[in-house]
Order: sequence, then structure tokens, then C-alpha cells
Amino acid sequence: MPDNLKVPSKFSSLMACKCPRCRTGRVFPKSIFDITGFSKTNDFCPHCGLKFEHETGFFWGAMYISYAFSTAFMIFFGVVAINNDWAWNKILWTILLTAVVLVPFSYRYSRILLLYGISPHRHFKVRYRLGELKDTGL
Ligand SMILES: [Zn+2]
Repeated sequence: MPDNLKVPSKFSSLMACKCPRCRTGRVFPKSIFDITGFSKTNDFCPHCGLKFEHETGFFWGAMYISYAFSTAFMIFFGVVAINNDWAWNKILWTILLTAVVLVPFSYRYSRILLLYGISPHRHFKVRYRLGELKDTGL
């Protein structure tokens, strides 16, 4: 079976930051570990041509998801630090470093969750995956 006929699951595509419509094109052009480039987002899917930010300010909604991620991380690592009877300054540094180190993760996956969860016209369509359809972006 050719690779383009194997349809990855929605979850694996989400985790790999692939386009929600074709599950092939990358949403982000650079690695999550690229400190200067992790925040760059493709304007269009390189495979099917889907415009990711279909209206101005669409990704502002990701800010709320990112806020929830950051809060959850800080609470989790704060509870872990407190339960290990660390000194208050060590707890504070752990929480702050956790928030900073996990910025690329929360930035990317908040956008991906917004693309997969809220966008009504971005459901998977096999014809886009196979390359039979492609938006021109105009
Ligand atoms: Zn696509």
C-alpha cells in the first residue's frame, strides 16, 4: 500500500503538528527545539494549500489554551516541588524555569488544538491527502 493511502489517526497527526485537512503538510516549518524558529507558522499548508490563519487574529484564541497549559505545568511542578520539601526559592525557580522551558510546547500545541478543535472547515479529506485537490491560496 502506498504511503499516501495510509491515513494517520487524528491524534498522531495532531501530535506531529500536521495539517488537519490533509494530515501530510507541516504546520510549523522548523523544529520545536529551534530556539529562534519554533514560533514560525506556515501561512499555507505545503501539501494541500490550506490557509492556516483563515481570518486575521485567528491564532489569538490560542493564547487562552497556552495560558491553561502554562498554568497546569506550573501547578504540577509546584506541587511536585512542595511535596519534596524543597526550599521556597528552589520551588520558585522550578516553577519559573518550567514555565520558560515549556514555552515552545505550549505555543505550538495551543495553535494545533485550535486548528483541530475549533475550525469547522478543516476536517480531514482524503482527496487533499492524495493530492487530487489543492488550494492555490489566492
Ligand atoms: Zn494540508
